[in-house]
Amino acid sequence: MNVRVLGCHGSGQLVPGENGPVQCGTCGFLINEELLVDAGTVGSRLYLEEQRRIRLVLLTHLHFDHIRELPTLADNLVGEIEEPVVIAAIPEVLDGLRRHIFNGTVYPDFFRLPDPVKPVFVSRELLPGQETLLCGLGVTPIPVNHVVPTVGFLIREQRRTVLFSGDTYQTDALWQAAGDVDALQAAFIECSFSDEMAELARVAKHLTPALLAEEFAKLAKPEVPVYAYHLKPRFRAQIRQELGGLGIRHLTALEEGQTLVL
Ligand SMILES: [Zn+2]
Ligand SMILES: [Zn+2]
Repeated sequence: MNVRVLGCHGSGQLVPGENGPVQCGTCGFLINEELLVDAGTVGSRLYLEEQRRIRLVLLTHLHFDHIRELPTLADNLVGEIEEPVVIAAIPEVLDGLRRHIFNGTVYPDFFRLPDPVKPVFVSRELLPGQETLLCGLGVTPIPVNHVVPTVGFLIREQRRTVLFSGDTYQTDALWQAAGDVDALQAAFIECSFSDEMAELARVAKHLTPALLAEEFAKLAKPEVPVYAYHLKPRFRAQIRQELGGLGIRHLTALEEGQTLVL
């Protein structure tokens, strides 16, 4: 499975890095060139030709940082695709997209445009805990613990599975489901705030490095590579330092533009 990081932070910002400035983007992961997990960053990091190959967008939840470039993608694809792009999510997310974003006021309704018979987007409801075969991949959404209805995803290509936590605070169902997976290749786990911001993390329902370690321990698979993501750019240096001190064997903070073969 090929995972290309289009954006992996909890906000958009230019920050200083070791080798010059880093353009932090909100979350968007392109899998096997045709499946997108979250649409925080997509149009701004891909050539049109690459955007035309996207067949499916999985959304973890409705928060703006995870959907913000979905309107951009829709606009770019008008007249460019033969078949609509499938937007797959739990019902709360699909309803919210229609009501709050593609409502004719904030943005045109690309679930009906340019032609109701052949729109840019079609929606597909996902049932929590059930695997659906999409783009040749098994996709299982698992509800997690965030301030709005949110899922993490298990994404399986034949026997190889990767996990995306989605935005979450402490949770159990995700780790139970992932614990049952034989060949877990990687766990992408959110880590938004530094340890000294534990109270904010609790209220906003996100993880800190110490909480990430507790959550990962629930999985009981210490050999699985962990990629921390959704770091808030303002606290990036501090969070990375704390992650480095956790003693988790295969833990790295995900980098913008990185491509992983899993
Ligand atoms: Zn977020
Ligand atoms: Zn969120």
